[in-house]
Amino acid sequence: MIGRLIFSTVACLLFWTVQAQADAPEQSAVTGEVRDRGHHDKVGATLWMETAEYDACARQAYLVATIMLDRALKDPTWTASTEQAEAGPGHETRPPAIILDVDETVLHNASYQAQLMRVGKEFDRESWNSWCRSLSSHAIVGARRFCIEAMDLGVTPFYLTNRRDEVRTSTLENLRRQGFPLPDNGVTLITNCGVTKTQRRAEIAEKYRILMLLGDNMADFTQASRSRPEDRVMAARQYATWWGTRWIILPNPVYGDWENSLYGFDVNLTNPQVHEVRFKSLKP
Ligand SMILES: [Mg+2]
Repeated sequence: MIGRLIFSTVACLLFWTVQAQADAPEQSAVTGEVRDRGHHDKVGATLWMETAEYDACARQAYLVATIMLDRALKDPTWTASTEQAEAGPGHETRPPAIILDVDETVLHNASYQAQLMRVGKEFDRESWNSWCRSLSSHAIVGARRFCIEAMDLGVTPFYLTNRRDEVRTSTLENLRRQGFPLPDNGVTLITNCGVTKTQRRAEIAEKYRILMLLGDNMADFTQASRSRPEDRVMAARQYATWWGTRWIILPNPVYGDWENSLYGFDVNLTNPQVHEVRFKSLKP
């Protein structure tokens, strides 16, 4: 059954052809292509990702996830998928699954950001892919144990990432070395072949009952991520009862759609313009 969810090479090529732009919207959300401008603003955020406070947040998130997974399994109507919730009954008998984002959800990449800052460089695809191939990402505290416990309970973990297909093998190996369960030789690692996360989540939801979503960016939960900051807040509030129950979010002050939305998702702003927008965005 898992095998049917694999996105074929042909389909991937087709999607990349259709989506001719360099990055799908959610691609840049994950990789931080825009947000890496303005290193000074990111030093504190990157340092924070290595602190006891971050560590505690991650532990907290995965402890809550573990508790809620047990509750979710006992409730056959439970779903974390907006598609399944809107469709009504029908998903109850499907096998249970959880969907986890990869970067800054199960794998930690603050060292990549630090490397860029030390040499005064911006994000680029080459250095990011090189980082991915170095297998240097380490497991975020609590993530591995949660995934193993899910597997033990018969819940399939899907790793849904905007890392591209060219680093899929490396990502699989990185996850494997960090001890993450990879059922069926890792077919549940779904990389980016030009299809949005929302679309890929919907594909999984056709075959599985989605018990939980875990991520660090709104795009890991809802397509409403790519909107104005105030609209993003309203979209998050729409699902107020899902946060901490069906949706588990981890902190990421370094990059994400939260910042890109400040810039109106304009990838062409200069550094001075980025700083100006940031200051103007501060609430009085
Ligand atoms: Mg992420």
